[in-house]
Amino acid sequence: MSEQAILRLQGIEKFFGEEHVLKNISLDVEEGELITFIGPSGSGKTTLLRVIGGFHEQTEGAVILDGETIDQLPPEKRTTGMVFQNYALFPHMSVYDNVAYGLKLKKDVPAEERDSLIKDALKQVQLDGYEARKPSELSGGQQQRVAIARCLVLKPKVLLLDEPLSNLDANLRLIMRDEIRRLKEELNLTIVFVTHDQEEALSISDRVLVLKDGEVQQLDAPPAVYQHPENEFVAEFVGHAN
Ligand code: ADP
Repeated sequence: MSEQAILRLQGIEKFFGEEHVLKNISLDVEEGELITFIGPSGSGKTTLLRVIGGFHEQTEGAVILDGETIDQLPPEKRTTGMVFQNYALFPHMSVYDNVAYGLKLKKDVPAEERDSLIKDALKQVQLDGYEARKPSELSGGQQQRVAIARCLVLKPKVLLLDEPLSNLDANLRLIMRDEIRRLKEELNLTIVFVTHDQEEALSISDRVLVLKDGEVQQLDAPPAVYQHPENEFVAEFVGHAN
């Protein structure tokens, strides 16, 4: 196991009733790394992400963030920011207030620092100047940036993205891919990403975790997954990328 792992999963098992959805999953994510979970529908990608974020409790195993076991913490006490597929902005609130909302839950941030934190987060997603707009006055990509800013303002140690681009058209998806890479590089963000789009995963990630029926098939950098798939399932699955 590596020294720099910011996020460590150890022997994660998850049952929903009788259904064994995650099987002995261990993973170290390095600081500043972008790792993507890929696999067919129902293979456990979202469940694993939700276990990290605290939205599902694992049946066995540990989630360790920056050296601390966080299994007992509810989502709002974890320093994992989660951006959901349908990003759910508050439609009646301005961009500024949507981002401010995330900070409201953090009582330890002094009032005089809040404004600059909110503005910094909006700058990071290139939305400075949009503070007063309502979500309905933004494009889908801009709305997604607000959802990301709402997480970034909390300075998460790990950003969890659950199919964040799936509601965008093909062109915007490509732009947002670059945007996520840029954020990762500029802020040295650690990102865990879930997508059903293999091509997207292989183009955006430092490493991908390939899942099938809740079991890890391969954990590797994209070129290695392409060139040296560990089994027929992986070969076939990434072969469908193009
Ligand atoms: P993926 O994200 O790869 O499509 P999921 O993690 O959503 O897969 O689902 C994995 C399995 O767990 C599926 O069989 C799904 O039906 C089941 N599952 C997911 N969420 C729940 C839940 N809240 N209750 C019961 N079963 C669930």
